[in-house]
Amino acid sequence: MKRSRMILVVVLPLALACADSTRKLQTEAQAYLDGYTATYKDLAYTSAKAEWNSNTRIVEGDSTNAVATKQAREALAVFTGSATNIETARRFLADKAKLGPLQVKQLEAVLYEAANNPQTVPDLVKQRIAAETAQSEKLYGFDYRLGGKSVSTNQIDEVLKTSRKLEERRAAWEMSKEVGKDLRPGLERMRELRNQTVQALGYPDYFSYQVSEYGMTTDEMIALMEQLNRELRPLYRELHTYARHMLADKFGTPVSEQLPAHWLPNRWGQDWSNLVTVEGFDLDGALKSKSAEWVVQQSEAFYVSLGFPKLPASFWERSSLYPLPADAGYKKNNHASAWHLDLENDLRSLMSVEPNADWWETTHHELGHIYYYISYSTPEVPLLLRRGANRAYHEAVGTLIGLASMQKPYLVGRGLLDGAAKSDSMQALLKEALNAVVFIPWSTGVMSRFEHELYAKNLPAEQFNRRWWELVRAYQGIEPPSPRGEEFCDAATKTHINDDAAQYYDYAMSYVILYQLHDHIAREILHQDPHATDYHGSVAVGDFMRGILSSGSSRDWRALLREKTGSDLSAAAMVRYFEPLLPYLQKLNEGRKVTLPEGPA
Ligand SMILES: [Zn+2]
Repeated sequence: MKRSRMILVVVLPLALACADSTRKLQTEAQAYLDGYTATYKDLAYTSAKAEWNSNTRIVEGDSTNAVATKQAREALAVFTGSATNIETARRFLADKAKLGPLQVKQLEAVLYEAANNPQTVPDLVKQRIAAETAQSEKLYGFDYRLGGKSVSTNQIDEVLKTSRKLEERRAAWEMSKEVGKDLRPGLERMRELRNQTVQALGYPDYFSYQVSEYGMTTDEMIALMEQLNRELRPLYRELHTYARHMLADKFGTPVSEQLPAHWLPNRWGQDWSNLVTVEGFDLDGALKSKSAEWVVQQSEAFYVSLGFPKLPASFWERSSLYPLPADAGYKKNNHASAWHLDLENDLRSLMSVEPNADWWETTHHELGHIYYYISYSTPEVPLLLRRGANRAYHEAVGTLIGLASMQKPYLVGRGLLDGAAKSDSMQALLKEALNAVVFIPWSTGVMSRFEHELYAKNLPAEQFNRRWWELVRAYQGIEPPSPRGEEFCDAATKTHINDDAAQYYDYAMSYVILYQLHDHIAREILHQDPHATDYHGSVAVGDFMRGILSSGSSRDWRALLREKTGSDLSAAAMVRYFEPLLPYLQKLNEGRKVTLPEGPA
């Protein structure tokens, strides 16, 4: 007792001095972060407003918006990547044990942002942006031709979704891959420049840089992707066998060992849901008599019923929610999105809502993003941490509510379906699996492994196509209609390989997280069958959601998931959701040879 007091007496002045320097450092760091945040907010807001105009008011031949967008983006890039910001953030982080945890997270966000365009290597950044712009122009400007006529990728997709003629399908599929030839040199060049840009900030390669935002190493991410793939493999093998037989039957040809790529209703074989139609579920018909405005109002009412606030008046004034009249004199981007322009209250959505089932699901999905923004725009969450718990969470939340919005009890409650009417729930589950389960080997395997080898393993350019098809065969069990040599670059036909590089595992994770959250909500909160839930009106579901949404990225995403659902990231909930399909498919597949190995070689 005495001795310890003695030590205390000696240690105290030192501890005081230490506390003093810690406080001083924290005050300095806070002053820096406050200044950075103020400038960042201004520049980001200007840039977001310019982008908004570029997307909602497209006037042919008028480049005003495009020029403003480019300038605003550049100003933001020069600021976030400035040498001063890099040095200052690094200096503070060198002493991170003395800083508050939120300060450390914000400084890490500053450095992460800087690594995308470090002004310490301005020439590299310029070359990279030029290479990326040129690649996008080639990709989006490519002239696809079928039967001597120019066609859009939508028209190619339409052939793959509907045509019963294999020759026609093959021509469409092969044409969709032609663009890859032109993109190969650009992909090789972008790989080099992307790696070099982030290496300037100490990341080993671009893939590791993208993964680092999860607080994970590349090896951990690849191991996680392998785990998710393994968990869903047994079900995928049954779907694979089912599809081989079903399609051979449809086209009147012998069953092939692997799935021919041109038999599938998607250019990359990533979504087969179109193979199945569900009888007795006519949401399109029910929505026909409603207005587009009603659809959006119902989505808002869904969130309000969970205890979320009504959307601010500015949301309704500033958003672009409906298709433009034919005589508008300008066009808009028709791809749905949700925007958080000033990272405070300026929330908008860009949609082209019509009263049909697709938009019913989409409005629920997009408002999920909007309510995520609202939930973390509070004084407790610093502006720089106002984002999803990780990149996958935002999408997981939107898709989760999209899924909930399509379940029968909710629709019956909204007066859109007749509760007594019979619909085929097994077919509905199969259709869902042909979308979600089929997506897993593609996202965790083909895309993530290819980009990992591209950036982190320096895959030689003369092996791009061979390696791509090895992965497609091993993970998806798909083969091309004829051998694809190195004159092709089929990986580059996927837009994300070019303009959303090294982050495709985000999508795999968002699927897995969404089923984890849905499983918890259905079983633990609502005590309902996960295939037939009605979230509407449940304040308990609202509380659970707010518990996840309101911290933004200020908390560790793994701790958050564990705390809220009681488990780590795993596909177990997704496997369980689709479990009823397994015996159903096994029965259908009885006596059929399963050609896909238990694991990718
Ligand atoms: Zn989304």
